[in-house]
Amino acid sequence: MTTKIISTLPNNDDSCGWIKQLPPRRAQPALSGKKHADWVVLGAGFTGLAAARQLALLHPQARIIVLEAEQAGEGSSARNSGFLVDSTLNEGHYSAAGLELYRRKYEVKRAGVLAVQRLVDDLSINCDLEAKGKIHCTAVKSHEKKILNFSKLLTELELNHKILEGEELRQRLGSSYYRMGLWTEGGVMLQPAMLARGILEKLPGQVELYENSPVINWHKLSNSEGYQLSTPEGQISCEKLIVAVNGFMANCGVKPNRSFSLTLTASMTRPMTTEEDEAIGRPDSWGVLSAQSMGATVRLTKDRRILMRNTAEVWPNHHMTSADLELRKAKHLNGIKRRFPQLGVDLIESTWSGTICLSGNNANVFSELENGMFAAGCYNASGIGLGILFGTEIANLASGKMTDEIRMIQTNSAPMLLPPQPFLRWGVGLRLLCDRFLARHEQ
Ligand SMILES: Cc1cc2nc3c(=O)[nH]c(=O)nc-3n(C[C@H](O)[C@H](O)[C@H](O)COP(=O)(O)OP(=O)(O)OC[C@H]3O[C@@H](n4cnc5c(N)ncnc54)[C@H](O)[C@@H]3O)c2cc1C
Repeated sequence: MTTKIISTLPNNDDSCGWIKQLPPRRAQPALSGKKHADWVVLGAGFTGLAAARQLALLHPQARIIVLEAEQAGEGSSARNSGFLVDSTLNEGHYSAAGLELYRRKYEVKRAGVLAVQRLVDDLSINCDLEAKGKIHCTAVKSHEKKILNFSKLLTELELNHKILEGEELRQRLGSSYYRMGLWTEGGVMLQPAMLARGILEKLPGQVELYENSPVINWHKLSNSEGYQLSTPEGQISCEKLIVAVNGFMANCGVKPNRSFSLTLTASMTRPMTTEEDEAIGRPDSWGVLSAQSMGATVRLTKDRRILMRNTAEVWPNHHMTSADLELRKAKHLNGIKRRFPQLGVDLIESTWSGTICLSGNNANVFSELENGMFAAGCYNASGIGLGILFGTEIANLASGKMTDEIRMIQTNSAPMLLPPQPFLRWGVGLRLLCDRFLARHEQ
């Protein structure tokens, strides 16, 4: 059997603002020696944690092992902007067929929102969840049409929303930067690291977690009864394997020609002082998404911090050094200054990076790859809700349990075939360049 070597491994920076707000925790030991399990889950982000939890609920006697390259729940699951969304703006919907396609994707994302809300309630997780909608904004007149088209789409789908302009928008955000906004009721803001930590802490005791245990190679066992995975100090064989590594999927040999990764960076400020808050009019907390792909995602949090995410890059080794982050921090600061010229320049407290996984047609990965090996991921930057939904449902699928959610997920198309490397990298780079140009006033 051929062994799949995993050459690019996660290597997180330690500067994520969300994680820094958490109390320290003692890491679980790394895998050592030889072990056997009924189930192995590879990756301990939202997808892997949700999968492990569901497996434990379905198979209380089984041995379930989770392998995590770094610290559990501290990869992209803790590093994102914290928008738990049902509707997204940049999707094609200009025909009846397009509308139906959008509706199906919407329904899956909506199921993801409900899955998170259910989990948060069931496990009593405090993750600063605020269910008061999101706002799609533009600062450019020519992009107003996108907002208006989106409003038409939401009306057709009977989804509650409202156009915001002029003084109303200015007061809502505490900024006169944007020309037009569209508030949608379905959008939840949360603190992602608290959510990931909450799920981790409430994992059923039966789940064994090994951290700092990167899987460096795997292969199918020759008698076709399961898989063997190796870490630097250990080896594990299992009957069934669930791969939940999202941005690292292609590196692990999963759908390498149907998905690609981007590295995103974000910065978070310290809490504003009372004077600074007053200078922007003390608006209620909010979350803004750009009408233009590659435009900035911005949040004003309950504790009066500003989060700015306005970069996305092809970055093959996925790791940004502190010098790399320093360069991106300047872009984040620029984005903050454009929106809040009344604030000073000493605001940013932390800058970090994370990896996302995309497909060419906005589709997700959710399937049995080969006998006993399953994968879920490729969430196109909407992986909070989808990660928890797909993680739970891939465990159901792998256990032979059919659910309405699985049927719903499977009505959507699979990721399309992409050009081989290096053409894919060049193509994506070019597309990002164009999008960045179009979004130059939205960053
Ligand atoms: C800056 C940023 C902003 C974002 N904003 C949003 C947002 O607002 N809303 C939203 O819904 N989504 C957002 N996303 C995307 C979201 O974070 C992801 O879709 C989500 O984290 C996917 O969860 P996951 O568990 O599938 O993957 P991850 O959270 O990436 O977890 C995968 C885990 O697998 C581990 N792993 C990888 N390779 C190996 C290996 N070889 N061996 C062992 N372990 C391995 C990793 O260390 C990691 O912990 C954003 C992402 C970033 C980076």
